[in-house]
Amino acid sequence: MVAEIINGKELSSELKLNMKEKVSDLKKNKIVPHLTVILVGDNPASKSYVNGKKKACAETGISSDIIEMADSISEEKLLSTINKLNQDQSVHGILVQLPLPDHINEQHIIEAIDPKKDVDGFHPVNIGKMMTGADTFLPCTPFGIVTMLKSKDINISGQHVVIIGRSNIVGKPVGQLLLNENATVTYCHSKTEDLRSFTTNADILIVAIGKANVLTEEYLKPGAVVIDVGINRLDNGRLTGDVDFENVKNKASFITPVPKGVGPMTITMLLQNTIKAAEGLEKQ
Ligand code: NDP
Repeated sequence: MVAEIINGKELSSELKLNMKEKVSDLKKNKIVPHLTVILVGDNPASKSYVNGKKKACAETGISSDIIEMADSISEEKLLSTINKLNQDQSVHGILVQLPLPDHINEQHIIEAIDPKKDVDGFHPVNIGKMMTGADTFLPCTPFGIVTMLKSKDINISGQHVVIIGRSNIVGKPVGQLLLNENATVTYCHSKTEDLRSFTTNADILIVAIGKANVLTEEYLKPGAVVIDVGINRLDNGRLTGDVDFENVKNKASFITPVPKGVGPMTITMLLQNTIKAAEGLEKQ
């Protein structure tokens, strides 16, 4: 068996076509969806993510701007900038690129964003809504993963999903979203004993560890669906996932590659959330 690849780049392109139409309909009603991204400091990875988001916005007709702030900015100043954006009717989505410098409390910043403009889906109000299955902004990476599974008609209901990683932005919320879809969910992490005893029972295995190529075929049940969230840069500059793709591809039924897997979907779901934010204003 050779696993079928779930290509996040291709799926993103298809979804963006649909979004383009939605944006153009909104513009006919004089609403121009707008995303403001705040970038603090000059972390090269963060800069590259922010530029990727700006480019993706332009592709679908969403307008965007980047507010760049020095590494030394105070938490107070950042909070007051967010406050102004919360009041600004022309801004539908606000995203503060993480991580922030150590002297700024990330949780204070996340909680300062108006939940109606929280297109990252990190605000506790939106996390709470997600937990209860209410309509809200879903966190982009987990939302992208569920969209990828559905795009291939992969059955989720009743399936055993095992997630390695329990971060607030990937592991925990993806488990919740799949529980909402009636999966049976197991979370594993660095303190899990005998990881293989869990992973070899997974119908769907989601790997979000942040360590290059550590997941090999002996961790897999034959025919499992493998979602590789990891983005790791090797010494030679190439990007790779947490899953050893070549080693695993003959045992899995479906697999996401890195690059062109979950990464592009994360950005695409951000666009979807921004459009949703703009549509929300239309209904008010
Ligand atoms: P975190 O570092 O916040 O979390 C990593 C998780 O992996 C932790 O829960 C940790 O356990 C667990 N872990 C670490 N080592 C092991 C191990 N040996 N065995 C079992 N569990 C382990 O990372 P993120 O969730 O933010 O990101 C994970 C990866 O996904 C990174 O490579 C990141 O770059 C990538 N990423 C990709 C995105 C995309 O769009 N494709 C978006 C976001 C992230 P513990 O909690 O016990 O420490």
